[in-house]
Amino acid sequence: MTPDVEVAALLKQELARQETVLSMIPSENAPSLAVLEAVGSVAGNKYAEGYPGKRYYEGNAVVDKIELLAINRAKQLFNAEHVNVQAYSGSPANQAVFLAFLKPGDTFMGLDLACGGHLTHGSPVNFSGRIYKPVSYGLDKETELLDMNAVREIALREKPKLIISGLTAYPRTINFKEFQKIAEEVGAIHLADVSHIAGLIAGESHPSPFPYTDLVMMTTHKTLRGPRGALLLCKEKYAKELDKAVFPGLQGGPHENNIAGIAVALYEALQPTFKEYSLQIVKNASVLAKELMNKGFKLVTNGTDNHLILMDLRQQGISLGKQAAFALNEAGICCNMNSVPYDPALPYKPSGLRFGTPILTTRGMKEQEMKLVAGWITEVLQNMDNSGTKLRIAKEVKELCLRFPLYPELKQ
Ligand SMILES: *Cc1c(COP(=O)(O)O)cnc(C)c1O
Repeated sequence: MTPDVEVAALLKQELARQETVLSMIPSENAPSLAVLEAVGSVAGNKYAEGYPGKRYYEGNAVVDKIELLAINRAKQLFNAEHVNVQAYSGSPANQAVFLAFLKPGDTFMGLDLACGGHLTHGSPVNFSGRIYKPVSYGLDKETELLDMNAVREIALREKPKLIISGLTAYPRTINFKEFQKIAEEVGAIHLADVSHIAGLIAGESHPSPFPYTDLVMMTTHKTLRGPRGALLLCKEKYAKELDKAVFPGLQGGPHENNIAGIAVALYEALQPTFKEYSLQIVKNASVLAKELMNKGFKLVTNGTDNHLILMDLRQQGISLGKQAAFALNEAGICCNMNSVPYDPALPYKPSGLRFGTPILTTRGMKEQEMKLVAGWITEVLQNMDNSGTKLRIAKEVKELCLRFPLYPELKQ
């Protein structure tokens, strides 16, 4: 058999793309080669339905040790009582929470998608909004900040079984303590979905929801810099129901190769250097936000506390997000269009852009580089139809990227 040259060539092209553009989608990151190697390892060959020590298949002595390493490292890193590492990704992990603690039709609360919530927090097109009864909370129209008094009022009125705190496009700190207090007051369970900010929490650059939050879900592939996957962490009293919901409730065999990759990523996140890394992600976002505001752009909440920036383009034009993201991508800056709070435009033609600094920080870029990036973003957005400008900037971006390689060990 001759080797498959088609996929090999495409993978090479994708590596070249990642090496030569500024990837600024805030949900993305680039894990270490050690993590990638674990994910590509033979651990994925093994069927291991069940949990360490209680498997339905033979031959799991080694795989058990891998899974236990992942569990124990997560417990140590986050100060959690119980950890499940088997959920295939963030959305199935959230689904497991619903399956464990709600019945179809039960009421729950989540942040409105248009205000920065996730699909699984109650969107009408998602399982969460189709099977259960979502009651959304939004942001204050003036400040664009979470209004905890409003959250409490809705909770007192609607008596939800579950309250989800968490974000995909909210650039500010979340007060998990306050959410937990409200949940306890109304007899609800609180799920903190910290997918985006898991790495910031691990590196102590965002307040932690541990140890007092009932349930915490995080994806492992965003700021935490692991492979695709998810961690479910909870108080001991919820452990049994949650584990049962993941397996056998929702899934069959866990992806032990991914779990091996998660274990490696957690090892890396436990090193002292990870604190500096996570702090630098936030510093970079903060400098980028300041520079963009100095250039006259409106940012949602006028800045950021975390790794992401939401730019409001309504001054320049309603529904400009898609066109702007397209133009930036032509200039080598890859971000995504996004709704802004109370966006008058539809989600597939929204009025905002979302930027994040995790990958730029992973490459070793710092404040100085953020100033350059802000300059390029400004120039592109002021010259969206000028192909000469976009081409020149794409070249400059490439030169910067080559000075900060993502995977210097990999041959291109
Ligand atoms: C990314 C994300 C998820 C879902 O993760 P997938 O792995 O894409 O399914 C869930 N919740 C939040 C808040 C997220 O940011």
